[in-house]
Amino acid sequence: MIPKPPPREGSLGFLFLPPYRVQGLSVAGEQTVIQVPELDTCFDMGTCPRAVLPSKFVAISHGHMDHIGGLGYFCSQRNFQGMGPAKIVCHEGLAPAIQKMMAGFTELEGQTTPYELIPLAPEGEVEIKNAIWMRMFETEHTQHSCGYAIVEKRSKLRDEFAGQPQEKLRELREKGEDITRIQEVPLVAYLGDTSPGAAMLRNDVRTAQIVIAECTFVEKDHKARAEAGNHLHLTDIAEWLGVLECEHLVLVHVSRRSNIAVAQKNLRAMVSKEQYEKVHFLMDYRTNRDRYDRQAEEALRMEAARAKA
Ligand SMILES: [Zn+2]
Ligand SMILES: [Zn+2]
Repeated sequence: MIPKPPPREGSLGFLFLPPYRVQGLSVAGEQTVIQVPELDTCFDMGTCPRAVLPSKFVAISHGHMDHIGGLGYFCSQRNFQGMGPAKIVCHEGLAPAIQKMMAGFTELEGQTTPYELIPLAPEGEVEIKNAIWMRMFETEHTQHSCGYAIVEKRSKLRDEFAGQPQEKLRELREKGEDITRIQEVPLVAYLGDTSPGAAMLRNDVRTAQIVIAECTFVEKDHKARAEAGNHLHLTDIAEWLGVLECEHLVLVHVSRRSNIAVAQKNLRAMVSKEQYEKVHFLMDYRTNRDRYDRQAEEALRMEAARAKA
């Protein structure tokens, strides 16, 4: 008998939740990296698969190795491939340690990897695309652990000026009158690792189009473990679904010892059909592939119908 070849490394989990793709790898304690290509953003960088390199922004939720292990490599590869410096968004409390880590690589390699560090205070924001902002909020996991809400800020005419003729509005604007207000549309929220807490009830989280959250433990007798590790348990998710207004809830960071099929069965027993249908497990390859195949078929049908018309 000759030895077996090593197992093939798993491919990236993938969901198309129009207009966004959510893709990446996430297993509790091992690695978490989640990319939303349309927003030029990765959440965490536990490892650095090739596919995530084009996203300029990486938002770090906390300093555990399974969330930050690939960060140095990400910066270095972007530079090596001529993609420009990575922009690292983090809690301001984490910034000095990240700088020290990157300085360590400079010393090891004898060359400097360029990167831009964007430390945020709680509720601090950075514009990542035109009128699209990333906001940091604190979570309950480790010191300086945080999540992010990505919101679009649309400029709207104030109600009292609705229906006014254009010339009148121009006149008002020229007089220096502020005739617009900013309407905030929450697009994507990422919770990182966290105990159940206030962050889950924020409006920019609850009403985001897509919420990405951890669900480390799923078995009934693992509730105490979830509490001890400051993680979410499936029962927390079930309760949360009662107040979540998002279109999609993407669950990540399931522990390797937990079975996603069991998680789905248990969750289905705890929530309504409508709530259950919002939930996706990023690493459930089979279900997500079937879903994508249906989307692709539907797209082909639409195209054919358009061609006929
Ligand atoms: Zn983790
Ligand atoms: Zn952690």
